[in-house]
Amino acid sequence: MSSRPFNFSAGPAALPEEVLARAAAEMLDWHGSGMSVMEMSHRGREFISIYEAAERDLRELLAVPPNFRILFMQGGGLGENAIVPMNLARTGRVDVVVSGSWSKKSAVEAARYADVKVVAEGFAPVEQWQRRDDADYLHICSNETIDGIEFHELPQLSGSVPLVVDCSSHVLSRFIDWSRVGLAFAGAQKNVGPAGVTLVFVREDLLGRALPICPSAFNYATVAAADSMFNTPPTYGIYIAGLVFQWLKDFSYAGKTGVAAIEQRNIDKAALLYGALDASGFYDNRVPANCRSRMNIPFYLRDERLNDAFLAGAKERGLLQLKGHKSVGGMRASIYNAMPLEGVKALVSYLQDFEKQHG
Ligand code: PMP
Repeated sequence: MSSRPFNFSAGPAALPEEVLARAAAEMLDWHGSGMSVMEMSHRGREFISIYEAAERDLRELLAVPPNFRILFMQGGGLGENAIVPMNLARTGRVDVVVSGSWSKKSAVEAARYADVKVVAEGFAPVEQWQRRDDADYLHICSNETIDGIEFHELPQLSGSVPLVVDCSSHVLSRFIDWSRVGLAFAGAQKNVGPAGVTLVFVREDLLGRALPICPSAFNYATVAAADSMFNTPPTYGIYIAGLVFQWLKDFSYAGKTGVAAIEQRNIDKAALLYGALDASGFYDNRVPANCRSRMNIPFYLRDERLNDAFLAGAKERGLLQLKGHKSVGGMRASIYNAMPLEGVKALVSYLQDFEKQHG
C-alpha cells in the first residue's frame, strides 16, 4: 500500500494499514453521526451497533460456540492473572504450566489468591504434568511472547479441570479448539487492536464462581450479564478491534479466507524466517522446532558485539523494533497477523546482507 516501515514490535504492535486509514477517515464523523467514536455514549445506538458487530464478527472468525461468552474487558494480560483466580479459584487450588516468562508471572500472581502448583516447567508433554484432579483450573500460556514458544495444539486434559489459556500473543493467528478450553484471555495489543481492551472467552458453566473479594467490574458473571457494559468499556479500542475483525473476515490468501488464510500466511512467514536463521551460522534461534512460535521469533547474533550495528542498519532499511526483550537480550522479530509477507522477505534479505558484510 504505502511505504511505511515494517514494524516488528512485540506489542503494542503493527495494525493493518487499511484499519488505520479507515479509523483516520472516520475520526471526526463516524457514519454521519457527527461524532467521533471516542465521543459516543457506550449506551447509545451507534456504539451498541459497533459493539454488536465486533462481538458477532469475532465469534464467527474463531467459531466460538454458543456456550461461550465473549467479554470485552480492561486490565490486560497481567490484570487477568489476578482476575482469573478471583473468578475461578473457588477451592483455592490452581495448577500452572510454566513454559516461559509470562506463565511464570501468572503463577506468581495467582499465588496471591490460591495455592499454586507448578505442574510442569519448560515444554514437557502433557502426560508428564503433575496435575491435581481437584484443581480449580490449570493455566497455560499458549504463546510465550518473550521466549518464542508456542503450543501448536492445546492440551486435552482428562477429567473435569478447566483449562485456562493466556493466548494474548497469538489470538486470531490460528483456530482454537474450544472443546479443550474453559477460559481464554488475550490483551488486544498484538493481533487485535490498541492496548486497553482485553478479550475474555469464558464457558458459561464457569460463570458465577467468583470469590467475594472479586471487584464487581472484574466479575465475569456481572460483566457477562451486562454484555460488557457493567462499567464503561474501552469503547475506542473495541471499535478498532471491530475494524480489525472486518479486515480479517475479508482477508484472503492461498485460496483461503479469514482465519484459515491468515494462519496459512503466518505459517509461510514463520517458515521463511526460521529457514533463513537455521541456514546461517551467523544467527541463532535456540527454540526446539516442535514448539517454535509463529508469532515471536527471538534470535541472537553469534557475535553480540554487532548488536547495535545490526539494529541501526535495520532501522535504516525501514525494519523497526527488532531489539529483543530486555530479560533475554538479542533480537526478536514479532510477525503478527498484520505483518505482510513482504515484511518478512525484507527482513530475510537484510539478515543475509548484514551477514555478508560482517560474517
Ligand atoms: N501474557 C502474554 C502472553 C503477553 O505477551 C503479555 C504482554 N506482552 C502479557 C501477558 C501482559 O499483558 P499486559 O501488558 O497487557 O498486562
